[in-house]
Amino acid sequence: MIRFSLVCDADHDFDGWFASSEEFEKQRKRGLIACTTCNSTKVSKSLMAPQISTGRQKDAMAVASVDANRRELMAKMKELRETITSQSENVGTRFPEEVRKIHYGESEQRSIYGEAKRDEVESLLDEGVAIAPLPVVPDDAN
Ligand SMILES: [Zn+2]
Repeated sequence: MIRFSLVCDADHDFDGWFASSEEFEKQRKRGLIACTTCNSTKVSKSLMAPQISTGRQKDAMAVASVDANRRELMAKMKELRETITSQSENVGTRFPEEVRKIHYGESEQRSIYGEAKRDEVESLLDEGVAIAPLPVVPDDAN
């Protein structure tokens, strides 16, 4: 059901519920819609946007769907993070040093992860070292 804000030829505003816009037009042409104030059948839709009767329900569903998407994304990020961390060596704060050694062939080629400060990350990127931030998942806050 759609609620239309209607207006008659005497400018009386009233609401009507209709199955669809087509249904409204059909009833209007047959003179079945009358102004609630003056009974005029010369009515038209006012310029206000129609409201869907299930508006509240629809909003609730939209929220749920956003949450589901986020959960899915979080799950993917967590999975990615777990894949990286389970297959890489944690070098902690030695990361910038270790990743440089690997990059310049001073250390064996392997996957590592750890911590780096923003300026260290920037200089590593400047040097062309292939690094990427690990996805942060909310569970890490614990
Ligand atoms: Zn009227």
